[in-house]
Amino acid sequence: MSDNGITIESYRHVAPKGAVDFLARLSERVRGRRFVHVNSTRSGGGVAEILTRLVPIMNDLGIKAEWEVIEGDPEFFATTKAFHNALQGTEQVFTDAMLEHYQAVNRANAGRRRLDADLVLIHDPQPAAMIESRPPEGRWVWRCHIDLSSPQRRAWAFLRRFVVRYDAAIFSLPAFAQQLPIPQFLVFPSIDPLAAKNRQMSRKEIHKTLEALQVPLEKPILLQVSRFDRFKDPIGVINAYRIVKRYHDVRLVLAGGGATDDPEGAQVLEEVREAAGRDPDIYVLDLPSNAHLQINALQRAATIVIQKSTREGFGLTVAEAMWKGKPVVGGATGGITAQIIEGVTGYTVNSVEGAAYWIRYLLASPQLIRKIGEAAREHVRQNFLITRHLRDYLSLLVHLAR
Ligand code: UDP
Repeated sequence: MSDNGITIESYRHVAPKGAVDFLARLSERVRGRRFVHVNSTRSGGGVAEILTRLVPIMNDLGIKAEWEVIEGDPEFFATTKAFHNALQGTEQVFTDAMLEHYQAVNRANAGRRRLDADLVLIHDPQPAAMIESRPPEGRWVWRCHIDLSSPQRRAWAFLRRFVVRYDAAIFSLPAFAQQLPIPQFLVFPSIDPLAAKNRQMSRKEIHKTLEALQVPLEKPILLQVSRFDRFKDPIGVINAYRIVKRYHDVRLVLAGGGATDDPEGAQVLEEVREAAGRDPDIYVLDLPSNAHLQINALQRAATIVIQKSTREGFGLTVAEAMWKGKPVVGGATGGITAQIIEGVTGYTVNSVEGAAYWIRYLLASPQLIRKIGEAAREHVRQNFLITRHLRDYLSLLVHLAR
């Protein structure tokens, strides 16, 4: 058993049949190998969330997995934040001093860490330049979690100089792949079915949690969980709800968070509140960042989950809702289209009217809601659970660290 008690065995009852045994067989081939992950934060954000679970499970499987976190000063993180934005398409200014400092911090970090391993997986741009200090032994792979579909050219040209020195790169969606002279792999993100966000909840616990959030349960709930961000189209969700509301007495819950430390988020939240007006059936919830169980309960209480993004990276909220057996009506963009099989596990839409149409279609048939929800849960079980993520990383280790 790993030091914080997460074992691969605990996933046997949720993972697809045979998955845990397969992982055990796969790990036999790389037992005792050193597999180091490097990122820039121990907590907060999807990457840290997944590593918190993946690393102990890998150790439980007999792999010497370690997780190193790089350190940097505020200037460094200002630069990497600018990278993050530029690589996702927002124009940013970079000075030579910023770029030099970025490299210097990477060099200093590399000097302080044990990077001799069979496989080193460098997550995202922050530690990408550590490749300059790679030891002669071992394979290095750059794992990109961000949306690289339309990067600002100068930022990508700078980062690419480091990326090409890796043995391979991993992207989260086919659309994020780049012209590179190294092998590229596709690894979808995943959700952890045993984490607070997704674990089983009793009906009583769901009721109590919703009661604490002051969301009543006597009407069907349409739910969207997402940061208050224009690309998530919360206003479009309200407009779709208004159309649906003419035919069905439903309630809309828009649950988000993080608006307090994001000036644009605060503005979007304000717009959402204004658009909701005095409608007593619209609930706008500004949740703290650790509201995992609340989100879990909301997703479980919902009748239909909406993720009407107009632009999206992967869209983990879609997998989270599908895992809870909910049909999702989602924007036809990014990873949402990789998760929703049209008419089988949900519906993808390109407009407010489209969203309203499929929500009405579903509300008219409780049987269809159940059927799509079941298919959605199975689809997530097969493709988007942490056990599949683990299989992909172990396969990479087997493949590269021969
Ligand atoms: N989330 C959260 N609180 C919020 C809004 C979102 O914990 O107020 C979680 C959500 O459950 C999901 C993640 O943040 O796990 C959002 O990931 P997604 O890929 O859907 O969108 P992103 O925010 O990365 O664009």
